[in-house]
Amino acid sequence: MHTRNPYRSPPDFQLLAEAYPPLQKHIITTTKGATIDFKDEKSQRRLTEAILHQDFGLKLDLPPDRLCPPVPNRLNYILWLEDIVEACALSRHNDVATVVRGLDIGTGASAIYPLLGCSTHSNWVFSGTEIDDTSLEYAQKNVAANRLQDRVSVFPADPNGPIFAPLAQSDVEYDFTMCNPPFYSSREDVAQSADAKEFGPNAICTGGDVEMITPGGEAAFVRRMVEESLNLGHKCRWYTSMLGKMSSLASIVQTLRENKVDNYAISELVQGQTKRWVIGWSFRDIRLPDASWIARLPHPGMQNLMPLRNTLKQPLPQTDHASQLGLLVSAIIGSTDGVIASNLSQDQSILDMVISTYENTWSRAARRKRKELMKTEPAASGETRMTCRIRHQRGEAGGQERTITDYLVLDWVKGRDRGLFESFASHVERKVVEGIKTGIH
Ligand code: SAH
Repeated sequence: MHTRNPYRSPPDFQLLAEAYPPLQKHIITTTKGATIDFKDEKSQRRLTEAILHQDFGLKLDLPPDRLCPPVPNRLNYILWLEDIVEACALSRHNDVATVVRGLDIGTGASAIYPLLGCSTHSNWVFSGTEIDDTSLEYAQKNVAANRLQDRVSVFPADPNGPIFAPLAQSDVEYDFTMCNPPFYSSREDVAQSADAKEFGPNAICTGGDVEMITPGGEAAFVRRMVEESLNLGHKCRWYTSMLGKMSSLASIVQTLRENKVDNYAISELVQGQTKRWVIGWSFRDIRLPDASWIARLPHPGMQNLMPLRNTLKQPLPQTDHASQLGLLVSAIIGSTDGVIASNLSQDQSILDMVISTYENTWSRAARRKRKELMKTEPAASGETRMTCRIRHQRGEAGGQERTITDYLVLDWVKGRDRGLFESFASHVERKVVEGIKTGIH
């Protein structure tokens, strides 16, 4: 589960029931204390309502035959998007967008993602789509009951029409799209699923067929999204979806690669026994850091699916002056031509800065080439071509004797030219290692 998810440890069910009395009669006492029967649908529904009431100040009214969303898992997806939005802000030198706009495909009767997103972020606004009339009606009711009509609009969708219709019709750009797609292709597919096996035939919160089944299952649904997004391109910063099956993940990565979309991110959402994947892709030049909770899973068996690395980590020689790394790197950046730098940390000695450059000014070969090019091309102006974050990380190195090692970490934040980032990274790494060896004081 995401490290910022408050439900990493189970909630205090007794306290929840005191705050939300309808939960009280579902509380059972075990040797480990108060809990509920997670296989009982009514108990689950009251728990979701209680958590939304107590922790988010939200009300929820659902029809009995529609999915009841478990909050911890839905919050995981929101927290992943929050990390992506934050990483995107770095590409603008930490200038956070005033309004963050999301599109939730298949928002469901609960409109759970818009409700959670708005209650945890005062500057987020949402559009949602839904093909099912009952769910649409309830979604609109839930938005109104929480007085979010100004920030959330829910639109009917045509199952045979474009999935991203609101995006195609919009003049404004979106920051992200999100989707918890119908996972299955048929009733048989549902019956064979791991979830059904785990919970038995009377699985809790299975929802109506319309919520769970789509022709071709989730892989076909998300492939349609990828194909539509090719034409929509920059209209959205990050297109994303949840996926329930590893095979779908492989299929989507293949579709992205076939269409030469190399800027993508994969993470996983884990809640108890349930694991879901999230995939995001972008046509922009915004790059996400490799962190497992954002863009790149470290599992050895999955490396063939992962995007190329955007984070470079250089172990540094032992030094007693690691605290002066910030000053050392500032000096190196200061003596590199044409680089714009801003500190993310107030404290100059802590190394955490964002730098941007128009072109390669640091290598001799690049300088020669630049001279040649300048005969035919105007000098660099306008947008910078590469942005990266430079930071210090202290961690344990492996091996027999565990030692604490300092690392210089560079995250590629923005740009299309991977070579430019890698060349800048090796320039800084070389200078920092030299600086430490000759002694930083
Ligand atoms: N977002 C909710 C519901 C997910 S279930 C939650 O996380 O709990 C998937 C939803 O997608 C269902 O409500 C289903 O009706 C809807 N759906 C299926 N196909 C769709 C399409 N083409 N466009 C919009 N919604 C669709």
